[in-house]
Amino acid sequence: MMDSYHFETLAIHLGEEPDFFEGTGDVVAPIHLSSTFARERLDEFPKGYRYSRIANPTRDVLEKKLAALEGAKYALAFSSGMSAETAVLVALIRPGGHLIAFEDLYGGTKRVLDLFKKKYSIEISYVDATKVEEVVESFTPKTTLIWLESPTNPLLKLCDLEAIAREAHKHNIKVVVDNTFATPYFQNPLEFGVDIVVHSTTKYINGHSDCLGGAVVLSDDDLYEELSFIRKSTGGVLSPFDSYLTLRGLKTLAVRMRQHQENALKIADFLESHPKVAKVYYPGLKSHPQHELAKRQMRDFGGMLSFEIRGGAREAQRFVESLELFLLATSLGGVESLISIPAKMSHDYLPPEERKRLGIEENLIRVSVGIKNAEDLIGDLQRAFERI
Ligand SMILES: *Cc1c(COP(=O)(O)O)cnc(C)c1O
Repeated sequence: MMDSYHFETLAIHLGEEPDFFEGTGDVVAPIHLSSTFARERLDEFPKGYRYSRIANPTRDVLEKKLAALEGAKYALAFSSGMSAETAVLVALIRPGGHLIAFEDLYGGTKRVLDLFKKKYSIEISYVDATKVEEVVESFTPKTTLIWLESPTNPLLKLCDLEAIAREAHKHNIKVVVDNTFATPYFQNPLEFGVDIVVHSTTKYINGHSDCLGGAVVLSDDDLYEELSFIRKSTGGVLSPFDSYLTLRGLKTLAVRMRQHQENALKIADFLESHPKVAKVYYPGLKSHPQHELAKRQMRDFGGMLSFEIRGGAREAQRFVESLELFLLATSLGGVESLISIPAKMSHDYLPPEERKRLGIEENLIRVSVGIKNAEDLIGDLQRAFERI
């Protein structure tokens, strides 16, 4: 029966059927705070639980839902997006090996990749993955992994997941996609042959900016075993309380994403026609270079956009500081709207010349469009443009 239910139903119902929890009739999964679980006999674990770092009933419910919503067999919830990414790198990186990564990536992902590079003599090719041939040309006999985002942070670039996965698999290379921006509501990378999906559940999946979390989602049995072992050994698990918060957020993901998307499209249109805006990056706009790919690969375009304000660093700073409804903060995906200057915030880790090469200029402004009233949001932007 579960198989035939839709996204919205699974997000709420799966794993939380009434009476699932010891016949109490709970309609939401209780927070199982217990760090350990008693056994009656030395070698028997009738409910499968022994210690909360290995498995926890509240976290299990979240993992079941995440797996189902990504169309996967398994999900593992971590204490943050970065701890999820680190576990995947531990599983797939070989000392002296080679990996390929999209050059437009979340700043923290580049930082952890560079950490592995230094410590374990990894070679990394950063490529423009919007061009499949550039990815393929970078293959070497030592390549074990391709790390992608689509859409990317902060330039909202897309790459052809199906084409890249097909080429990678000819050479036994695993493909990882950070699906944080699209969320499983708008895109399921495993459908296109991708091996592993990672999420920062801190963002849209939790959606209320009140808890960090990460997830790895996959269907490969051996990789799942390995990742479970890595998580159990290194310990970056999502706590029971944070599992509960994330579960609560996840239930409304579909309605939130629909509203994020509706507001983002209105704001993208507004920005594109504003004389003080030089360029807008949003996959839902016809002017976006991968708009056709977005229509094919995603169910819709999401709530993230970036734009270049006319002028430079000064204009960008004055603009973001004079807004009222858009809060100046890193992070994204919450119900409120957040605005940031990647060059000074999420991507300040990159050297200035590298940022310039990638197109992350000082007048680039990234917007996480929230679900407040769109007219109010546009009014706030309008007033801020008038003040600069
Ligand atoms: C925030 C983010 C991460 C890191 O997640 P944390 O939960 O902050 O550790 C990774 N990838 C993307 C695309 C992100 O936006």
